[in-house]
Amino acid sequence: MKKIIIAIDGQSSCGKSTLARQLAEELNYIFIDSGAMYRAITLYFLRNHINLPHKTAVQQALKNISLEFVFNQHTGRSDMYLNDENVESLIRDMLVSENVSEVSAIKEVRDFAVAQQRKMGEKKGIVMDGRDIGTVVFPDAELKIFVTADTAIRVQRRFKELYEKNPTITLEDVKANLELRDYIDTNRAISPLQKAEDAILLDTTNLTRGDQFKKALRLAKEKIKQHS
Ligand code: C5P
Repeated sequence: MKKIIIAIDGQSSCGKSTLARQLAEELNYIFIDSGAMYRAITLYFLRNHINLPHKTAVQQALKNISLEFVFNQHTGRSDMYLNDENVESLIRDMLVSENVSEVSAIKEVRDFAVAQQRKMGEKKGIVMDGRDIGTVVFPDAELKIFVTADTAIRVQRRFKELYEKNPTITLEDVKANLELRDYIDTNRAISPLQKAEDAILLDTTNLTRGDQFKKALRLAKEKIKQHS
């Protein structure tokens, strides 16, 4: 069977990473969470106090960043490594979430991440999720899915995830962060979050994880058959 590229885009916490991971596992494809890359870059910028409007500082900082996904035997998933350090857990912190959209709106940052993402897809057989995968990173992807869900549902899902790690977090904090990120991601000048014309819309508001997966898998199998 010929391998294809599957691009999954959508707003924050709409379930796209879980869906992308499940699809990749089922199809024996590589799964790439592109958001993890922007989060790791943001963590580096925060730690090194990079002055965002300062183009040269940003360019210099990017030269010192190496990103890698490393398979974790214990979890069966890939973890994000920043300069050989496992930052998988740290990049999910609220401080990173509060700064990541600003960092990922910078042209140099996007060029840096997109070049690596395209390289990962050279051999196809990849499921990548993010905001601009179907529009910018892989405009020729054989299957593009644009995932949406009502804001209230997305806030609940994200809150549940974060609360397990940090019980001091409030629903209001999560809602404010989600809405702000969606606003910046959708309205930025470069590669804004938008549905590619040829993407299939998947509204997960009233779908269980199992139903989302079944729908997406059916679409993937159809496309693989078409392209074989
Ligand atoms: O997917 P996740 O919510 O972890 O992504 C974190 C942030 O990274 C997003 O809010 C967005 O600002 C940025 N991002 C992006 N382009 C992508 C993936 C993520 O700009 N392809």
